[in-house]
Amino acid sequence: MSDSATSLDALLARAVRARLALSEGDLTRLLNVEAPQELEALFAAAYALKLTCCGKGVAVRGLVEAGNICAKDCLYCGIRRSNAAVSRYSLAADEIVAAAEEAKAFGYASLVIQSGEIESEAHTCFIEEVLHRIAPLDLGVTLSLGEQTEETYARWRAAGATRYLLRIETSNPDLYARLHPASCSWERRVECLRALRRTGYQVGTGVMCGLPGQTVADLAADIRFYGALDVDMIGMGPYIPHPDTPLGKVAPDLSDEARLLLGLKMIAVTRLYLHDVNIAAATALQALAHDGRERGIKAGANVLMPNVTERKYRRNYRLYANKPCLDETAALCRGCLDRRLDAIGEHLLYNQRGDSPHYHGRASGQ
Ligand code: SAM
Ligand code: SF4
Repeated sequence: MSDSATSLDALLARAVRARLALSEGDLTRLLNVEAPQELEALFAAAYALKLTCCGKGVAVRGLVEAGNICAKDCLYCGIRRSNAAVSRYSLAADEIVAAAEEAKAFGYASLVIQSGEIESEAHTCFIEEVLHRIAPLDLGVTLSLGEQTEETYARWRAAGATRYLLRIETSNPDLYARLHPASCSWERRVECLRALRRTGYQVGTGVMCGLPGQTVADLAADIRFYGALDVDMIGMGPYIPHPDTPLGKVAPDLSDEARLLLGLKMIAVTRLYLHDVNIAAATALQALAHDGRERGIKAGANVLMPNVTERKYRRNYRLYANKPCLDETAALCRGCLDRRLDAIGEHLLYNQRGDSPHYHGRASGQ
């Protein structure tokens, strides 16, 4: 066995022995793995750790894309405010409740409600109303509704939401500034993550992988950032250009294949560093390869979020090119996922909320 293989084995063994055991240099070394044998060893170690920390099976959340109206203008996002080519929609409370009921009927015990960012009293009240109406379904509810005041987070928490996903997008403030208009503040996003923690949520964050100008050292720092914030959930995936955005008009630094691989390596290395957090295999993986999400699970992810939004709205929630499953119904998505997971020796965890093991450990003081 070569020296580099030996040292990779030693690094993986150290990572598996204890949480947060890797330096930024170690994380960079793992993210730079390219040789097929080394990649195999990296993914196998991360998947084995997923089994140890989260068990067999994949937690499932029904994803509701509640609306594409957004006050922000992130330079990479297909539903950014300035994209006049998008036909805007906002689901009525009845439609969100119907999607939640369908998710429940499928045996999805958790729901994610995601949308563009709106900060207003009317919107805060609307989400409160939705949360009150779905409370009798007894679902785990994740919100992903962007930056809000701590008071708004607290009101939604009191109305029944238990988890919140707010990606930091990149932990490098300079890179963040290049991807967002000057009105967006990286510091506010971090403050929102802290406010979510104070308010008692299971907190999730994440980044896009393969952004123009992003380095492997940036990605290693992103993983350290997750650890420093002691988050419970990770939702991250490859960056995918959207042609109607300013960033999408610039050729990406990396090919689709390279960004997919980077997304998979980020899952594996994050699992090896954080151990018992929930990590989602993002839909963006599937946009780059038909089996992208399954490969995400085999790289250490333990959560999937099949879309339960009514088919007629899906085309209008296109964050990036080649969004998959535009013409599927929620029932088709479920059958497809069952088959895909079966093929890799996994299965969806029906009728289980799938809370973050890390959150429960933290809440019980372990
Ligand atoms: N508006 C909320 C927010 O920004 O936090 C939640 C919805 S937003 C559409 C969800 C995530 O989509 C963002 O955090 C971003 O990482 C991701 N996203 C947007 N454009 C993308 C792109 N072109 N490629 C990959 N992911 C993208
Ligand atoms: Fe709006 Fe979120 Fe897209 Fe930014 S990423 S433009 S906040 S929907």
